[in-house]
Amino acid sequence: MLDHSRSASASPRRTVSPLARSLCALAATVALLLGGTAPAPAAAPLTIPVHRTESGPPDYRTPTSILKGLPFAPTNINLFNPAIYPAARDYAPASKRMTDRQILKTLKSSLVHRLGTKKTARAYKLLDNKTLKKVVPDLSLRASVVNLTGTVMEPTIRHYLDGTFSSYTIGPVPGGIFENSIAVAGEAPDGTRFAVLNQKYRQEDFRLLTPITGHEALHSGNIPGANPVTAAKEELVANTIDSEVYLQLLLENPRLARGKTELAQRLNSKAMARINTRDDRTGELRLFESEGTVYPVSTKGQAASAALDSFGAAFDLSGNLFDTPGSTVLDKVLTRLTGTKVRGADFDDETIALLDRDSTHLTPRQLLTVAKEALLLDAGRKS
Ligand SMILES: [Zn+2]
Repeated sequence: MLDHSRSASASPRRTVSPLARSLCALAATVALLLGGTAPAPAAAPLTIPVHRTESGPPDYRTPTSILKGLPFAPTNINLFNPAIYPAARDYAPASKRMTDRQILKTLKSSLVHRLGTKKTARAYKLLDNKTLKKVVPDLSLRASVVNLTGTVMEPTIRHYLDGTFSSYTIGPVPGGIFENSIAVAGEAPDGTRFAVLNQKYRQEDFRLLTPITGHEALHSGNIPGANPVTAAKEELVANTIDSEVYLQLLLENPRLARGKTELAQRLNSKAMARINTRDDRTGELRLFESEGTVYPVSTKGQAASAALDSFGAAFDLSGNLFDTPGSTVLDKVLTRLTGTKVRGADFDDETIALLDRDSTHLTPRQLLTVAKEALLLDAGRKS
């Protein structure tokens, strides 16, 4: 069942440039989770009902009992990656960028919704912070940084302000294992860090970029030879945490999932895998447990090209992997996420075990709201 993720990491020994070697990215190991290159559409496309009409008696189950059930399948596969559902529409990256005015207006309303008016004023001021402007000159990217305020990844903003990162820009990403990356981060010769958003996503809604911006800032250090394959533990931790941010953004604004862009499809697919990775005893989110593939189908005629056992199964943890160093920022993020004071955390088995126990602060009802109203998943199937 793990074929795809294993095959993705079965050839990690490709030659990569020294630069690429020092990078950490949302990349090939997680190709299935984040959506790799889409395969060519099948010669005879399947007929797929876009919406499934529920019938029968009303469902009186509690949110928790529903979450104890089977993985939720899409009712609209076009929200998800064609690499997973071959009949899904193959959306391109966004082709029209918001105007500066739209960015400012959208950021403000996003913050007001989350923080209220008073706290928004303070957060919004950060857009004009001199250091942040220098490190993140692009307004859309800078809005994605500010939009982390009030999320579990808010502490990562510090890395864009305190000299840890010297630049976060838009540009080309290296080839090889980084080819399909949404963004990469690495270490500059002077010891500072930098991050680059893949330029094909330069026109995307900054709200979609928000979890990615937090993810890259969380990568706090390099060790020789570390890359997304050898540092799979770091990637699993960072991806688990950034998923929580995306779930929160979808809870606040379910329509964000319907952007009809390649990036939205990739993020939605990952969010579906996250919501479907839960145990059948408590219905709580886990990292490695599910009652079936986390990419299920709900109707005859639908097909998924790949199965994935769990969110965590997209990361090959079987090899000779690095534990990589955390930071006080990681501690703070984990403390926010779990509600337990965390100190001295690294990207290691202990942190993975912590996240396996507790990786969401969304209630069962909120998780179901995201599943049904944002991702349009069918949460009505009974086990
Ligand atoms: Zn990463």
